[in-house]
Amino acid sequence: MNYGNIKYNDIANGEGVRVSLFVSGCTHHCKNCFNKETWDFNYGKPFTEKEEDAIIKALAPSHINGLTLLGGEPMEPANQKALLPFVKKVRQLYPNKTIWCYSGYLFDKELLSQSRAFCPWTRELLSQIDVLVDGKFVDELKDITLRFKGSSNQRVIDVKQSLATGRVVLSPYNEKRNAQTSLVKNLTNKIEQNKTANTSL
Ligand code: SF4
Repeated sequence: MNYGNIKYNDIANGEGVRVSLFVSGCTHHCKNCFNKETWDFNYGKPFTEKEEDAIIKALAPSHINGLTLLGGEPMEPANQKALLPFVKKVRQLYPNKTIWCYSGYLFDKELLSQSRAFCPWTRELLSQIDVLVDGKFVDELKDITLRFKGSSNQRVIDVKQSLATGRVVLSPYNEKRNAQTSLVKNLTNKIEQNKTANTSL
C-alpha cells in the first residue's frame, strides 16, 4: 500500500488533535474530489515499518486523541489488507484512543454486504474502528458548515454501537457543524431574507 501524506497534528478529520494517514488508491472518482492525485494506487510512497513506527510514536502524547484513516479510499480491498495488522497494533497499544475512518463505501450496503469493497478483512477492520464517516462526496450536496464531512449525504457512524445492535447508529458528531461557518451562513441567509423583504415592499 502507498500513502500520500501523514499529518501529525490534524484537527480537521475527527475529534480533537489526531494523526491522519492518507492512503493511496480510490475507485469512486467523485465529481470535484478534493484529492484527485490519490486515486492512483501508486501515488506517494510505500507505507513501510518506518511510517508505522513514526505514527505509533506520534500517537503517544496525551493530547493526541487518536488515528484517522482517509485517502484515497482506506476501504479498497488492497488497502484493507495492508491496514488491518497496523490498525490492530494501534488498537492494542492505545486502547483508549479513537480510530476514525473515512470511506466512500456505505457501511451497511457495501461494507457489511456483498460489494466490490467487501472482502475477508472488512469485518475485522471495522471492528477496530470507532467512527466511520461513510458515503461518497456529492458535489451538489456540498456543505462547508458541516464538521467532519464534506457533503450532507455522508454519515458519521458509531461503528461499535452499529455492530453491536445490527443497525446503523449515528454518532453525536453526525450533527456537528462548524460554529464559525454556520454563523456566517445564518447571517448570509438573514441578509438575503431582508433583501427579499425590502424588494417586495
Ligand atoms: S471517495 Fe474521497 S478520495 Fe475518493 S474520489 Fe471521492 S472524495 Fe475523492
